[in-house]
Amino acid sequence: MNKKSLCLLLTCVIMFTAFIPFSEAENVTMYASDGRTRIVQAKDIAAWKAVGWFETAEDAKIVTLYSMDGRTLDIPQYYRADYNAVGWYNTREEVTLTMYSMDGRSLEVFKDAAEAHNKVGWYYNINDVTVKMYDKDGNEYTIYRDFIESEKAKGLSDNKNDVMQLMFSADGRFMHVPFDKVEAHNKVGWFTSGGKIDTSKPMVAITFDDGPGAPTARVLDILEKYNVPATFFVQGKNVSRYPNEMVRAVKMGCEIGNHTWSHVNLSASSTGTVAQQINATNTAVYNVTGVYPKLYRPPYGAYNKAVLNTVAMPAIMWSVDTLDWKTRNPSKTLASVKRDTKDGAIILMHDIHSPTADAVEPVVKHLLMQGFQLVTVSDLIKYRQGHAVSGKVYNSLAPR
Ligand code: ZN
Repeated sequence: MNKKSLCLLLTCVIMFTAFIPFSEAENVTMYASDGRTRIVQAKDIAAWKAVGWFETAEDAKIVTLYSMDGRTLDIPQYYRADYNAVGWYNTREEVTLTMYSMDGRSLEVFKDAAEAHNKVGWYYNINDVTVKMYDKDGNEYTIYRDFIESEKAKGLSDNKNDVMQLMFSADGRFMHVPFDKVEAHNKVGWFTSGGKIDTSKPMVAITFDDGPGAPTARVLDILEKYNVPATFFVQGKNVSRYPNEMVRAVKMGCEIGNHTWSHVNLSASSTGTVAQQINATNTAVYNVTGVYPKLYRPPYGAYNKAVLNTVAMPAIMWSVDTLDWKTRNPSKTLASVKRDTKDGAIILMHDIHSPTADAVEPVVKHLLMQGFQLVTVSDLIKYRQGHAVSGKVYNSLAPR
């Protein structure tokens, strides 16, 4: 652009600008939040804005904003973004949540107060305060936790396995079946999982030694999946390292037995050491689970008369030695179970080895498909011989 044309352009701009104040078009309508409007000159817009007028009705409209601690604020819409930036929200839903109580009440709570409510019995999720319960026909109900006991008194159960039979298919499907339909399902390829025990039918006990350990949780997952119990002969020194597994096992109906504090050879230990190893473990198990062991298994299967006389519990050996600790091979563990398990067997495995945890599902599935019921060692003794006897050694409990 040459000098001459630049000059001409500037002249035009100056003339046009000078013309504006005399035009009709530069008058604009401005808006107040109380609904008033007024016509002002465009050049004065900034001045009117400075004293609370807005250029659009939308800007002037009063909106309510909300804070997490329950305050509200009415402001012209024009300022919304500024307030949003410093912790004010556009809707009440953004600053509140619904909390729930065990007795069925619900409450809208400002988010800043939620933690305080949580400390005095209000919960964030309705699933935290309700459980599924079942009637004798397997119908499902959602019940607030405060009413579990009264519903139990009316005949509902909070465990589906109490009112229906868990069954599974060889290809891994599961379903709950009314008890009187179990036989019919058995005939068409469904297998009975754990649950009620028929004492006239074959039963065996799976036992896990030396834990609890890192693989124990996976073992429990499988036992829970099939609703079957096992017996864990634990080392006392491991108990406090896996409290969740210990408590969970007991809740699932598993039995915790004593395998000494630190896997000592009891037959080569003084009476004092034997007593100390056994007692410390009993205490450790009780402290975590609230239940004392009723059985013990001597490490290495090593016992003598002095040991049997010292320990005031039945000594539990085994009849199926899977050698899982040696082979560390799930197929070999399963093969051993298939080959050696008879009615009344006590099966020995070790839940401190990961390949053993891998073997648990095939082993459990095989036993159930063979028609063996899985029971704890104490139940196996009880069903087959009545009361377990202290100082006595049990290897297996064949039918009488
Ligand atoms: Zn052991």
